[in-house]
Parts: sequence; C-alpha cells; structure tokens
Amino acid sequence: QSTVTYNGVQALQPTKGRKTVLVTGGAGFIGSHTADHLLTRGDSVVVIDELNDYYSTTLKRANIAHNLTKHGPSNFKFVEGDICDEELVERIFKEEGITHVCHLAARAGVRPSIDDPQIYVHSNVRGTTNLLATAAKYKVQNFVFASSSSVYGGSKSTYFSESDAVDNPVSPYAATKKACELLAHTYSHLYDLPCTGLRFFTVYGERGRPDMAPFKFVDRITKGKEMLQFGDGSSSRDYTYISDIVDGTVRAIDRPYKYQVFNLGKGSGTTLMEFISIVEEMVGKKAIKKILPDQPGDVPRTCASTEKAKALLGYEATVTFREGMRRTVKDYNARNGFKDSRAVLEGEKMAPYEAD
Ligand code: NAD
Repeated sequence: QSTVTYNGVQALQPTKGRKTVLVTGGAGFIGSHTADHLLTRGDSVVVIDELNDYYSTTLKRANIAHNLTKHGPSNFKFVEGDICDEELVERIFKEEGITHVCHLAARAGVRPSIDDPQIYVHSNVRGTTNLLATAAKYKVQNFVFASSSSVYGGSKSTYFSESDAVDNPVSPYAATKKACELLAHTYSHLYDLPCTGLRFFTVYGERGRPDMAPFKFVDRITKGKEMLQFGDGSSSRDYTYISDIVDGTVRAIDRPYKYQVFNLGKGSGTTLMEFISIVEEMVGKKAIKKILPDQPGDVPRTCASTEKAKALLGYEATVTFREGMRRTVKDYNARNGFKDSRAVLEGEKMAPYEAD
C-alpha cells in the first residue's frame, strides 16, 4: 500500500485483474471513449444506453459501432434500454457477472434542464438510485459515477475544491448531479458499497457532443455560419480533454474507496474570447458572432483544484487546450470532409496526432 495521504485518506494501489464493467451511457461521448479504453486493456464491457434523442441517435449508434468494429463482440455487449428499468438492470447484473459499474448515463446539459426538469430527475436521480440499489444487491467491487463541476454553482473560489461547501447548484441539471452524490453516499454507508463520484469539468475532444460549445463553434466557424456568444466573452471554463477524463475515470474504477468525490479537470480556465480566437486560428476563418446576454443557469467560471485526484488517484491532465482543440478540429474535418488548416497541420508536426 502507498503511504501517500490526502486529508487523512490514504491512497490505494490499483486493483489488478480482469473486470467486467457495466458502462451506463456507453453510446455517449465520454462512455464510448471509456468503454474503448477498458476493452483495449482487456476488460469485458457491457453498455446500457437508451439512445435517447437529446442529440443525434446516429452519432450514438456510430459510437457503439466504433467499439464493436474495433474490439469485436466477444468482450463487448450493447443493451439498448433505460437505466430506470429495474428488471432489465437486474438481469444485466445477474447474467453478465458485473464486477464494476462506471455510471455515465444521464440527461446532460444545463440549459435544457430548465425547460424540462422532470426528464432530468427521471434519468439522473431515479436511474442512479436503481443502479445503486442493484449494485449493492449484487455486491459489486466499485461503483464510479459521473457528477459535474456544475455542483459548485457560482463558487467564488479561484480553484473549486472538493472540500468546499457545495450546496448552491443553479440549474435542475446541477441539482440532480448533487442528488446523485448524496444517494451514492447513502448507499455506500448503508450497504458498504464502494462509491466514487467524479466531478467532470467541461469535456471536449474527438466525437464530442454536438450540443456543446467546442463542437458548435468549430462547426459554425468552419461553415461560415452565425454563432451565438452568450455574455461579453469574459466567462471562463476549465476545458478538459477526453483522454485525460478517461484516464481519471479508469484510475477511479481501479481504486475502490468507501466514498469519495474527485474533481477531474485540467486545473486552468480558458475565457470564451480566448476559446473563439483559438478556434478561428485552427479553422483559418473569422467567427460571425451574435452576442446575447448570459443565460440563466450558466455560471461565470469553473476551475478545478486537482490536488486530491492527483494525490489519491495519481491523476494529472496532460493535454493542453490548444493541442486538444487541434485534435478536435482534425477529427471534425476528417468526419465532415473538410481540409485541415495550416494551424492544424503545423501543430501536427510539433505534436503528432495519435488516433485512439
Ligand atoms: P452524452 O449525452 O454523450 O452521454 C450520455 C448517454 O446516456 C447518452 O448516450 C444517453 O442516450 C444515455 N442516457 C441518458 N439517459 C439514459 C437512461 N435513462 N437510460 C439509459 N441511457 C441513458 O453525455 P457525456 O458528455 O458523455 O456525459 C457523460 C456523463 O458525464 C453524464 O453523466 C454527464 O452528466 C457527465 N458530465 C459530462 C460533462 C461534459 O462536459 N461532457 C461535464 C460534466 C459531467
């Protein structure tokens, strides 16, 4: 055992051996990349995803096809269904011999949660409760789930830390993520279920979500279409590249703590203004902006303290925002038949692109 401690918690050595991981939401952005990583290292993966139409189901089916083609069907199974379906979820645990849960299925997105909070409560709160109850019943070795930086609300801290009092979510989405943390804490306490919550900070990268700013900005600027900018451009986000998020998630799967939450971010912010100018440079075109007021539910800034994840998980984000966006633009171009700009090609000479 390692002697590294953080606030009295001792860092654990990773558990070894082949795992059978239930990846919920595995047709989505982070889930499909995580499943890919787990399959590559030799674990078995069962994905449950309802393929809802929050964004294109074609993209979600393509994410499943990507993993099936790459890894074949012997260690990878896809089940289409709702995580709230008690019978279906129980059958998966029983028949597939699930040893670990990586729970990423959720209704994501802050702004749409204000228009339709019920659907967020259904998937995020009810769904998480069903999974926790079943995982406790089948005594899985670890339950890792996606929380979100949004639980910090409009925190004024320079770096958002897990030890900050967090009781000020400002959107129904954030409130459901806080509820997931509280439920996981409860199940871990009642049933000795090891649970780890991961507060992801704005994730972007290849096959990224089309409803999120990194994809939207690249798409609009490339096509010379008008794009919406909310606020004066000074708001800032801790953008975290997908491979860093997957690395932190897998580290958490391998280290079953009784109950912990960790920030998974890069640990530095990029303003909206800087962001747009980096995309302009990568794409080689100027943005046509329509500037609108800040939106309800949005927070002015996010920035992760990553000290705890570093000490207890050995996590460290390694991909700079510029390099991450270069890879994102390259992937967008390849999938949409656009040519790479000079900035993308020159960046490549400096940091060769590796397809995952
Ligand atoms: P995503 O929308 O691409 O993936 C979520 C998947 O869950 C989708 O494929 C969806 O069909 C599925 N799903 C939703 N409700 C379901 C249900 N009831 N039953 C079965 N499947 C269901 O989102 P993502 O960006 O990959 O996010 C993954 C997780 O990380 C989510 O929990 C999200 O809240 C969290 N998160 C993401 C970010 C980010 O920047 N992407 C930031 C913070 C937290």
